[in-house]
Amino acid sequence: MRYSEYLLSTLKETPADAEITSHQLMLRAGMIRKVAAGIYSYLPLGLRSIRKVERIIREEMERAGAIELLMPMVIPAELWEESGRWEQYGKELMRLKDRKDTSFCLGPTHEEVITDIVRREVRSYRQLPLNLYQIQGKFRDEIRPRFGLMRGREFIMKDAYSFDIDEQGLDVAYEKMYQAYRRIFERCGLKFRAVEADTGNIGGTASHEFMVLADSGEDAIVSCDSCQYAANVEKAEVRNSVASPPAPTLEMSRVLTPARKTIEEVALFLETAPERLVKTLILQTDGGEHLAVLLRGDRELNEIKLCRLLGCNEVELASEETVIRVTGAPSGFAGPVGLSLRILADHEVAGMADFICGANEKDLHLAGVNLGRDFSVEALADLRQAVAGDPCPRCAGKLESWRGIEVGHVFKLGTKYSKALNATVLDDQGQERLLIMGCYGIGVGRTVAAAIEQNHDENGIIFPMPIAPFQVLVTMVNPNDEAVNAAAVDLYRALQDSGIEVLLDDRDERPGSKFKDADLIGIPLRVTVGARGLKEGALELQERRGGERTMLPLAEAAGLLT
Ligand code: ATP
Ligand code: MG
Ligand code: MG
Ligand code: MG
Repeated sequence: MRYSEYLLSTLKETPADAEITSHQLMLRAGMIRKVAAGIYSYLPLGLRSIRKVERIIREEMERAGAIELLMPMVIPAELWEESGRWEQYGKELMRLKDRKDTSFCLGPTHEEVITDIVRREVRSYRQLPLNLYQIQGKFRDEIRPRFGLMRGREFIMKDAYSFDIDEQGLDVAYEKMYQAYRRIFERCGLKFRAVEADTGNIGGTASHEFMVLADSGEDAIVSCDSCQYAANVEKAEVRNSVASPPAPTLEMSRVLTPARKTIEEVALFLETAPERLVKTLILQTDGGEHLAVLLRGDRELNEIKLCRLLGCNEVELASEETVIRVTGAPSGFAGPVGLSLRILADHEVAGMADFICGANEKDLHLAGVNLGRDFSVEALADLRQAVAGDPCPRCAGKLESWRGIEVGHVFKLGTKYSKALNATVLDDQGQERLLIMGCYGIGVGRTVAAAIEQNHDENGIIFPMPIAPFQVLVTMVNPNDEAVNAAAVDLYRALQDSGIEVLLDDRDERPGSKFKDADLIGIPLRVTVGARGLKEGALELQERRGGERTMLPLAEAAGLLT
């Protein structure tokens, strides 16, 4: 590809609305352009990188025996009503109607559609195991789309779904996907960790998230310094040593129009609550039960994903205005409670906080709370401190904490969807059996963005070779110098002939600005063809990472690079 004929415009200035490095660099390097909040065009350079990741994913999926198909993005409401998610999913689900007034949604994930396919196409256990995947645009009307491709509303996901006759089959399918994910993220050149994840209200039995380690990550994770234990803080089984006196009932001082709610209702309420309204905090009792506390947030509470609503019993929900009364008898708090309470302590909804703090002040060291700090992104850092140093739940080690970007997620679903959609097959006894499912997602754009978070310097992107949009950049220092032009074109053609992806910078620009762009777009290998080197029969090869330069003899250059 000749740069002069390509669509690639770089930006000198950092766009004001781009907060994190990968977003800034992807805009500056001309990889993406915003169309609307959380909705992007992939410009040619960006698309090449996306396609590289997709290719790696495809290769590893096929190696693991998964089969590609493609489902529609527009899904009839009917199918989602069957699973119950039409009601449950909340505002992230983009709902729409066609001209006949029939309801549809834009698929944020495809359990319903795939289960429908399999219940029609697969009748016998002999057709199992089956793992079907697609790479497709998803739509989630995220409450706060941001960070470019990292949290978009329309984004590309690889989603795979496994079907087995029994739990052992699922274990095998899950392990295959787990290993495939390791290979995929290794091949993408990422530093990552697989961590135990919360199974949330999907109610599956096991789940792991693949977390790319990066300070800009929205997830907080802990890992043990001496065993393999690693978990998302949302799920971490950490226990601190707080031995608090029994608190028989936590009661809000200002409870408005109390109403008893089941946990499903609360979950729905949370999903559908207006932005900045309510968040869940979970206090784990010594008995291992969970207790949910909801509070009204008027700040960045959405950032603080402490825990997800798990198996708590019943809570009393007052209204959208105030908080709730929680009935339960926590005999001691564990987990990331210290922070939860510190957040509560300084929250304007003071009643709840006062009560809890009053009961446990001594044990929870509740001092120095600061609204601005505890409600902002930095609260996550505090959370990390709250759990860092805690004892590992599996061994005698201590926990360390990290920030991570969730690039992949594997999940044992069990029969949740097969039951709802009545997807069965006949077993070897001729009996109808519910299919046992797993689901496995990877954010393609998020993976590229995460790779940039980990691979850049002050001058720009440093693409890992496997996901680089081009492998080699050949720069003509002066395209008007005939010898330079000819030597560069020769090299360009020779590299192309041997299957290397080359970008030839043949623009009539100042060398300085070409080198700046080269640094910015981060092609791993750069060959500079200049008059001075040519006189000595050599070209300069420079690696983007590390910047090491070597002179290549002109005649051997193409051979050495292939
Ligand atoms: P998050 O916790 O970041 O909201 P999620 O748990 O909702 O992600 P999953 O339902 O597990 O996401 O989807 C599978 C994968 O899709 C995620 O691991 C992530 O890589 C990617 N993904 C999810 N939401 C987005 C988004 N809004 N933008 C880009 N990628 C996303
Ligand atoms: Mg999400
Ligand atoms: Mg998640
Ligand atoms: Mg997830």
